[in-house]
This record gives sequence, C-alpha cells and structure tokens, in this order.
Amino acid sequence: MDAKPIVVCTWNESQGGLTVGAEEALTLGRGVAGATGAKLRLLVLGPLPEAAMETAGRFGADAVDWIEDAALEAFSPDAYVEALAGYCQQESPALVLFNQAADTRLVAPRLAGRVGAGVVMNGVDVSVGEGGGLQATASAYGGDTQMVYELSGAPSYVVALSANALLPEPAEGGPTEPECRVISSDLSGVQERVRVIEQARAEGPRLEDADIIVSGGRGLGGPENYKLIEQLAEALGGLAGASRPIVDEGWVDSSQQVGLTGKITRPALYLAAGISGASQHMAGCSAAKTIVAINSDPDAAIFRYARYGLVGDCLEILPELIRAARQ
Ligand SMILES: Cc1cc2nc3c(=O)[nH]c(=O)nc-3n(C[C@H](O)[C@H](O)[C@H](O)COP(=O)(O)OP(=O)(O)OC[C@H]3O[C@@H](n4cnc5c(N)ncnc54)[C@H](O)[C@@H]3O)c2cc1C
Repeated sequence: MDAKPIVVCTWNESQGGLTVGAEEALTLGRGVAGATGAKLRLLVLGPLPEAAMETAGRFGADAVDWIEDAALEAFSPDAYVEALAGYCQQESPALVLFNQAADTRLVAPRLAGRVGAGVVMNGVDVSVGEGGGLQATASAYGGDTQMVYELSGAPSYVVALSANALLPEPAEGGPTEPECRVISSDLSGVQERVRVIEQARAEGPRLEDADIIVSGGRGLGGPENYKLIEQLAEALGGLAGASRPIVDEGWVDSSQQVGLTGKITRPALYLAAGISGASQHMAGCSAAKTIVAINSDPDAAIFRYARYGLVGDCLEILPELIRAARQ
C-alpha cells in the first residue's frame, strides 16, 4: 500500500503568488516525503497562482492538487476549512503542512478539529523518529524554547511552520513535472460566520515584503521621537516598524508591529533602535540578512542577533544616521 501523502497547502496571496513560506514548507515536505516513501502534493485553494506549477516542480512535488471554487476566490476561513476537510477525507494525507501566518491560524486548528487530526502550531521542523513515526519540533513559550511532539495516534496531522524555520531549497535532481489534478468540492452550503466590517489599513507596501526596515521600541522614550524612525526609513528607502509596547501604547498603528504577534519580516537590512531584543520581537525579524541595533545597554539581548551594534542613545545616533543617509 502507498504511504499516505504529504501535503503542502497554500493559496493565492494578494501579491499574485503563492503564500510567503510555501517554498519552505515544500522543502520540508519533500524531506518528509522522501524519508517515508510518500508522494509530495502541493494543494492550492482558490485561484491557481501563475507560479504554482513551476514552484511545485522546482521543489520536487509529485502533483499539484487544485480546489477551484468561487467561494475560495478570496480568503474566507469557513469555506477554506470546508474545502480542506473534504480534501483530507478524500485523500487521507499523513501530514498537511502550512506556512504559519495570520490566515493559517484561523484555518489549521479548525481543520484539525474537523477531521480529528493532531495539530502543531509554531512548527520549526518535522522529521521521522527512530520508530518510523513522525516528530514535529515547535517553538514554545513565545520562542524561548522548543518542544518535540511525537505524532502518533491520529489519522493525520496538521503542522503550521513558523516563518523563517528553514531556508527554501529546490530539489537537488532538478525540477519534476508535477501533474495538476482539479479536485471538486461542494461549498454551496458554507456560510461565513465572520463578517469583515472594516478592513485593516493596508495602503502602500507591506512590511513583510520590505527590503529595508527601521524599527523603534520603547527606548525611543516617547511617541514624539518615532518620527526619527520614519525619517531614517524614508531616507534609506525602507519602511518603519515597531515593537509591540509602542503599538500597545498607541504611538503607532498595529500594522507596523514586528514580531510573534505582529508581522513576520525578512528584509535585507533590519535596523532596530531602542528595542531590547525579546524573543517575541525577534520572531518577526531574525531572518533579516543583516541586523543593526542601537541600544544604550551594552548587554541588551538584541546585540546577540545584530551584525553591527551601536551602543548609545538612539536619540543622538538616529539624527546622525538620517543626516548621513540623506547625503
Ligand atoms: C505572547 C507574547 C507575544 C508578544 N509579541 C510581540 C511582538 O509581536 N512584537 C514585539 O515587539 N513584542 C512582543 N511581545 C513583547 C515582548 O516580550 C517584549 O516585551 C517587547 O518586544 C519589548 O519591546 P521593546 O524592546 O520596545 O521594549 P523594552 O523591552 O522595554 O526595551 C527597550 C530597550 O531600549 C533600550 N533603551 C532605552 N533607552 C534608550 C535610548 N535612549 N537609546 C537606545 N536604547 C535605549 C533599553 O536598553 C532596552 O533594551 C510579546 C510578548 C508576549 C508575552
């Protein structure tokens, strides 16, 4: 009997491509499929992104399963869960992998509840244990530690993979040529129980896509100093971010929060001023290629992550950096 498939689930994002992190999930899924002798399937809900077939092939998927339905046109949790539950009942996957994002948090646990699967959120790895069963490693306590879960006893498992858990690696032997299967689904009876009454402010470029981010934290001292962050971000051609306390204090909009409960970013340059480097903040920026930190405390945790550290008062250093960047 064939091993139960490993499924990576994704959907079209506003950018017109696969969800951020789909390539990482495919990389991990390919490893698990290889170790268990299972097929790797990329499952796409809603409109098929242009890049889906090419990406699936590049990352070694055996097939692309596509559930096309008007109800899946835009992200709608109830319809997505319904479609996924039907798919799981039909295909009995061993593992459904998601990249973890705000949307996934609404879908993955509910899917697991619907189909009686086990669920692990904040996953960083899935491997095959000594006894041949799957094991999922996940970050816990806000990223301060990791737990290893033995995945046994349930018919299938849902694992949401934290952003930046691993690097995407295309299949070594070159691209595969996955078949595309259109999966039918009856979503006519689905009623969305959550109604969007106001869209969050989402004008302009997104922090998740930014190449350069300048973020400020409580060390700025007061809301009036956040303009230094905005000015430096603008001078460098980047976007301004923030730590959670200054969002909670109302200095800046919540759309600018970086971290575990904010935006997960992966810029080329992340400059953090007056930010201590708590694990929950670093969860949203530690994948940056270069981190530069300004902090008055030489022992601040952020310096453990920073390639370049400036020990000093950010209210003195930021104006100098703005001047230099503008020249
Ligand atoms: C479940 C959970 C989820 C969370 N999610 C997030 C999240 O998504 N994002 C997030 O950011 N946090 C999050 N937090 C909060 C997190 O734990 C920290 O409390 C927070 O990141 C600290 O923010 P901060 O670094 O701005 O402030 P602080 O920890 O108060 O640090 C301020 C830093 O500024 C330095 N400083 C002070 N004055 C100056 C100066 N003049 N010049 C330079 N440096 C100075 C200090 O030395 C200090 O290191 C979460 C917490 C929990 C429990």
